[in-house]
Amino acid sequence: MELLKTQTCPYCANEVEDAYAQWEDDSHIVECEACGIEYRVQPIYEFKGFEIQKLCVSCGEFDDDCCCE
Ligand SMILES: [Zn+2]
Ligand SMILES: [Zn+2]
Repeated sequence: MELLKTQTCPYCANEVEDAYAQWEDDSHIVECEACGIEYRVQPIYEFKGFEIQKLCVSCGEFDDDCCCE
């Protein structure tokens, strides 16, 4: 399936500005404001993995911010 970088109406190719696009990770039924026809949009996010960091037992900072010896 081809993914588009902008939320684009499949009927009239009207592009929705990023500020008004449906970013939540779920499918949404939206009505195109240009042609008035409803379509379904769902953002696809690629899972990159978990970032794990230790908390320093001395200072309570994460590894990145810890200055302890
Ligand atoms: Zn449209
Ligand atoms: Zn520390």
